[in-house]
Formats: sequence, C-alpha cells, structure tokens
Amino acid sequence: MNTGKRNYLVAGNWKMNGSRSLVNEFIDAFSGVKFNHVDVALCPPSLYIPAFSGKGIAIGAQDVSHCDNGAHTGDLSVSMLTEFDCKYCIVGHSERREDHGESSRTVAEKARKVIEAGLIPIICCGEPLSVRENGNVNEFVESQLQAIFDLIDVKNLQNAVIAYEPIWAIGTGKTASPQEAQDVHGFIRSYVATKDASLAARIQILYGGSVKPDNAKELFAQPDIDGGLIGGASLKAKDFISICQAAS
Ligand code: PEP
Repeated sequence: MNTGKRNYLVAGNWKMNGSRSLVNEFIDAFSGVKFNHVDVALCPPSLYIPAFSGKGIAIGAQDVSHCDNGAHTGDLSVSMLTEFDCKYCIVGHSERREDHGESSRTVAEKARKVIEAGLIPIICCGEPLSVRENGNVNEFVESQLQAIFDLIDVKNLQNAVIAYEPIWAIGTGKTASPQEAQDVHGFIRSYVATKDASLAARIQILYGGSVKPDNAKELFAQPDIDGGLIGGASLKAKDFISICQAAS
C-alpha cells in the first residue's frame, strides 16, 4: 500500500542475534523477491555484514563510532562501513543510549560522521514509559532531535531517516496504537518543518516497537509513518518479508 506519500523503508535490526545459518537463510529467502515502492535494509551484527555483500539486500550497521579511527577498542569507523558496502547506519538506538550512556550530542556526532561518509543515518528517538505517562512525549522527542539540528546543517540531512521508537514498545509486544504512533510522527514532521519545510515533506519517519506481520499494515497506513524499524520480527525471514509486503 503506497498512498503516494514518500517511499517506504523497512529496516530490520537484528541486534545481538543471528548466526551464519540465519544469514544464509535470509539470503535464500530474499533472492528474487521484489517490493514495490519499498526500500528494504537489514542491520545484522557487524561480523555478518560482509556475508551480505553483493547479495542484493541493502545493509546497514547498528552503530558506529563518532571518531575517525584510533584507540577506541571495540568500535567501528564509518570508513570501515563504507568498505563493506553499508548503505545505512542506525544511530541513537535506545539500547545504545541506555547500555552505553550515549547522549543526544554523541548521537548527533555519529549521525554527522555517517552523513559525511555518504551513508544514510537512521536516527532513533523515543520516550520511556514514565515520559509518556507524564504527557511529555513531544518535548522529550524534540530535545533528542534538537541535538541533531544543533550540529548538522539541514542541507546535509536531506537523506537522513528518523525512527520513532517508544521504548516501552520495544521488544515488549506492546505496540503503540496506529493513532498514538501517528500523533508523534505528525509532531516530528511538524518539528522538522520548523527547520526546513521541504526536508519535512521528504524525510522518511519510521515507526519501531513490536511491529509484526499482523499490525504492520495499519501502522504503515498512517499518513506520517513511512515504514518501520523492526527488531524481533526481523529475525524470521517469513515475518520480515510479510512486513515488507505490508508496505508494498
Ligand atoms: C528495535 O529495537 O528497534 C525494535 C523495534 O524492536 P522490536 O521490533 O523487537 O520491538
């Protein structure tokens, strides 16, 4: 279903899951599969990125360093990602913000590196349950995104993607209702419009948080939802393909 808005993007985030055999299963499952008006990407753990090279599936990384190179044990640089044909890179996933103490400023620095290297950042934002219960969702999301606009000129954000992922919906089976998700997506688009109206009209805003084959279609039908960032359901090729088809 495409309502003539923007192209959809459905990106799978395997997180710290997967195996060589899952990589092979996905390569087989995706061979010859085409989707209309939907860009599809997979973000496996970095070790598996080379295995997808040349297999017709757009690949993204789950994170990247905000530094160029040097003494940063365990980190990966954007130049490494470009050497292995990555097209996308997730930045600011709530699990990185929580587990690794990443601030919105660091997330913005990562997004800038990704853009400078010619990759597309998937910039995550989203509130914890306490913020939703207090009714401060828009302020919270705005402050996360403000850090991006403080550091990066709007003209360099033309290919960026935003993913709204309410933390209480990630991996919990509790999805935001289509209306709840649309309300925040609409707010995000209007916030981007305060920076640049044409960017607001074109930027893809993905929803993430327990998207499954049976709820994807209704979520993707919302006017400001341009696809999804999919965690758990991206680990099953059949489910991930159904979600991509729901956008198609
Ligand atoms: C995610 O972590 O990006 C995510 C949306 O996970 P899940 O689909 O499992 O809720």
